[in-house]
Amino acid sequence: MIIKLKSTLSGAQAEQLAAAHKAFHIFDGAHTLITGSSMKEVPAGLVEHADASWVFPNDMQLASRGYNPETRTINFGATTIGGQSKHTVLIGGPCSVESEEQIESAAQLLKSLGLNTLRGGAYKPRTSPYSFQGMGLDGLKLLAKMRERHGLTVITEARDATHIDEIIEHTDIIQVGAKAMYDQGILRACAKINKPVLIKRGFGTTLQELVQAAEFVLSGGNQDVMVCERGIRTFETGTRFTLDLCGVAWLKEHTNLPVILDPSHAMGYAYGVAPLAKACVAMGIDGLLIETHPNPKVAKSDASQQLTYEAFTQLYHELKPVAAAVGYKIV
Ligand code: PEP
Ligand code: MN
Repeated sequence: MIIKLKSTLSGAQAEQLAAAHKAFHIFDGAHTLITGSSMKEVPAGLVEHADASWVFPNDMQLASRGYNPETRTINFGATTIGGQSKHTVLIGGPCSVESEEQIESAAQLLKSLGLNTLRGGAYKPRTSPYSFQGMGLDGLKLLAKMRERHGLTVITEARDATHIDEIIEHTDIIQVGAKAMYDQGILRACAKINKPVLIKRGFGTTLQELVQAAEFVLSGGNQDVMVCERGIRTFETGTRFTLDLCGVAWLKEHTNLPVILDPSHAMGYAYGVAPLAKACVAMGIDGLLIETHPNPKVAKSDASQQLTYEAFTQLYHELKPVAAAVGYKIV
């Protein structure tokens, strides 16, 4: 249950009420308490302090359109997504940061197209311990360098909670990867900051579980949460995963979280990324994440799915009219 408190109450009073009722306390335009969804009535001790309340069938609460019907507005560096913006942010860059030369070339590609958001993994959550694990802190510093040099907004993923503070320090947007989205240490750390958080859906994760991961961050105080569909595992093995566009429609209908789509990881092969990306943008989405590399053949991770810069550039131009057809703009 969500209970909006009267504006006459101070933060300290709200905090006391939260402690007394074992509720979360956030400031969301007003002091607000959140309890488990099993609570269906404002408890006696809170009735006199409550301005408004919402009851939910399950623990999809702050993220629910039933609470806030408008999609959250999230600042993406110089631009915004969600709200009334009708922006589809195109996030581009390599799977992994591999060298200064490589990430610099990706930064230049984005700048040349008028795009602003650079991705690149520094702590890679690889399936095998023998694969390239990422450049770690050196990779984060290179991303930060790209931000300073080119004025880009950078996004990178946290693999586990041991380096979450480094990630938070060096990046603008924190990506919680498909394998990391159940990591409570990461989610709880992301709840305490005021940087946007992108939570990717695990490949065996239900939509409800994905939203509950977002609720960890929201109920902890950070309202800037987005979710990302990046393919789920089905019986099909011809493609790496299966992009769940039904799930995207569900998220857009039931949640107020901006939705980003990642056709690169879903498809697993470069040949399918562009057509899938167009299908994604045609749904009217808040963002698209596309992996691109100066020489995909020699990429240290996800080599088969990364687009060449030529293919990325062509895709960008082809996406613009698709976005326009559904009232959106690629930024
Ligand atoms: C990535 O974005 O490079 C990545 C590892 O994605 P995911 O967590 O979706 O597998
Ligand atoms: Mn990748």
